[in-house]
Amino acid sequence: MQTLSGEHIAAWIESAAEVMEREKMFLTELDAPIGDSDHGTNMARGFAAVRARLGGLDRGDVGAILREVGMTLLSTVGGASGPLYGTLFRDAGQRAAGAAALDLAALAGCLEAGLDGVKRRGKASPGDKTMVDALGPAVDALKAALSAPGAADGPLGDALGRAAEAARAGAEATVPLVARKGRASYLGERSAGHQDPGATSCWLLLRSLAATAGA
Ligand code: ADP
Ligand code: MG
Repeated sequence: MQTLSGEHIAAWIESAAEVMEREKMFLTELDAPIGDSDHGTNMARGFAAVRARLGGLDRGDVGAILREVGMTLLSTVGGASGPLYGTLFRDAGQRAAGAAALDLAALAGCLEAGLDGVKRRGKASPGDKTMVDALGPAVDALKAALSAPGAADGPLGDALGRAAEAARAGAEATVPLVARKGRASYLGERSAGHQDPGATSCWLLLRSLAATAGA
């Protein structure tokens, strides 16, 4: 697969909703020691709402689908992660406005726009023990794949597989970190020794995107 169409994006969101439902307890358990035990339920609720709206969306405009996902997450998920994931999808959608399909370059641009939006809204930097620590390495991996010879029109699955792998490594690397943003930061040094829930859900989302692209 060399591009992701609106149909593919909708299939990704559908599978992401299943993953969030399936991994709800896992994410909530990660949020227990350093948060308030709601990350899994927040994500599952948000993506269930998104899934309910998917059917009515025009598959011809990837940007419109992503924007609608963002607006739905913004309006249905409370806490820190709702506005942040909402911004990620909304800003990615704005970047993709009017596109019928995304190739690797467009996809990298979208995810980078989403990452910039998350950073602008949440003011987190790499190493603050947040979703930025998974999303940032994933964007870097896509950009690295893009600069490989012939990659811009090469298969998307390989690049997305590497991006998902970078997100997984980034999420695991949050374990020893002391949180500097969000609820976990209230714990100070005691936040070390636990994996960040938001970085973990970000990895799960990218893993299902990679699977959708055939990785
Ligand atoms: P809440 O913390 O309000 O209960 P969630 O539990 O749903 O919300 O989400 C917590 C996750 O949100 C954290 O694990 C972290 O990855 C992410 N997060 C929190 N604050 C920020 C921020 N300022 N920037 C980026 N991500 C953040
Ligand atoms: Mg929480």
